[in-house]
Amino acid sequence: MTAQFTRADLDRRDAADPLRVFRDAFQLPENVIYLDGNSLGPLPKAAQTRLQDVVETEWGADLITSWNKHGWIDMPQRIGAKIAGLIGAAPHEVIAADSTSINLFKLLAAALRLRPDRRVIVTEETNFPTDLYIAQGLARHLGGDVELRMVARDKILDALDVDTAVVSLTHVDYRTGAMHDMADMTAQVQAEGALMLWDLSHSAGAVPVDLNDCGADLAVGCGYKYLNGGPGAPAYLFVADKHLAAFEQPLSGWMGHAAPFAFDPDYRPADGIAQALCGTPSILALAALECGVDLALKADPALIRRKSMHMGELFVALVEERCGEHGFALASPEVPEHRGSQICFRHPEGYAIMQALIARGVIGDFRAPDILRFGFAPLYLCYTDLWGAVDVLRDVMESGAWDDPAYRTKATVT
Ligand SMILES: *Cc1c(COP(=O)(O)O)cnc(C)c1O
Repeated sequence: MTAQFTRADLDRRDAADPLRVFRDAFQLPENVIYLDGNSLGPLPKAAQTRLQDVVETEWGADLITSWNKHGWIDMPQRIGAKIAGLIGAAPHEVIAADSTSINLFKLLAAALRLRPDRRVIVTEETNFPTDLYIAQGLARHLGGDVELRMVARDKILDALDVDTAVVSLTHVDYRTGAMHDMADMTAQVQAEGALMLWDLSHSAGAVPVDLNDCGADLAVGCGYKYLNGGPGAPAYLFVADKHLAAFEQPLSGWMGHAAPFAFDPDYRPADGIAQALCGTPSILALAALECGVDLALKADPALIRRKSMHMGELFVALVEERCGEHGFALASPEVPEHRGSQICFRHPEGYAIMQALIARGVIGDFRAPDILRFGFAPLYLCYTDLWGAVDVLRDVMESGAWDDPAYRTKATVT
């Protein structure tokens, strides 16, 4: 087979890449090819200096006055409004708060309140585990009143009926990268009278999302993946304007109260998206998240998508071309338009192979039972990184270096 690409082709693509200026905004270690920004984004250099300032000046010197003086109290709204710009929402529809899991709980419960004559939550059985677990926990908590239907990806629409209150789906599948058609799915779900809740954890910052153009009802998403907000960064949630007046979530903490500093014994929800807050936000974590979000806002989403699709196509072609005889089966959709910003391969020795890659500085991850996952974050990856990664993969396979007992011991986090 003649090679479709040479290393020189990739050098030329890098030279012509309008996004290459962003790489320098990140602290990336030497000799690492980072293909796991879909799990934990790297450190923006701006976050390093910002965190130092928040610690030394705001916390260290100004102490509690910083809630007012440095606007700490407004950070969930301010950063939420910025994230809105990345997901096609209005600034008053999004707030940064808590974790994705907790926000799912709030919004699933709120969805059931918005559809009081319906009692079914529909989701995809291959959804991200926490999305399933939270729905299971909520259904169990509500006793026999609520039914959870977990169905196969191609049976979602068949599972809808007049009892369906909400359909909860992840836009880009964490395992395979398969992407739902957000506009089409939202329209079909709403035609059945149900609400549509999207999890954007693997979308925002990597693929264009336009919640309001699709008429979505509710959404959640993660701050530490393509938004580069730092380990355990706050998540965000979206409630469409049309639902804000009736929106009611069960974690009625004081930060979501209409007047937290009135110290009223009775809960009275704040107007608008602020009601989605629960307790005191983590200011250090929000400060770091804001730096990641600011960077993402500077990049043209159309350029991000184009580069991400190029990278996916290129990576598949390179793996087929240079490692074709080693038994990697593409687990992501074949059609670039149908996938997010990652490529996955199945391999029976996937875990050990990934450990061998990581030991050589090519960082992807493994998802049980047999998936090697490679994420492409267009803001800081070069095309030549892909060449380098496939070079190492080829070497690990040809030499049999993956076949080492040390690579078979499973760590707690994979
Ligand atoms: C990463 C991810 C989460 C993470 O939830 P946490 O509460 O932050 O642990 C949830 N859902 C999806 C689809 C994810 O990809």
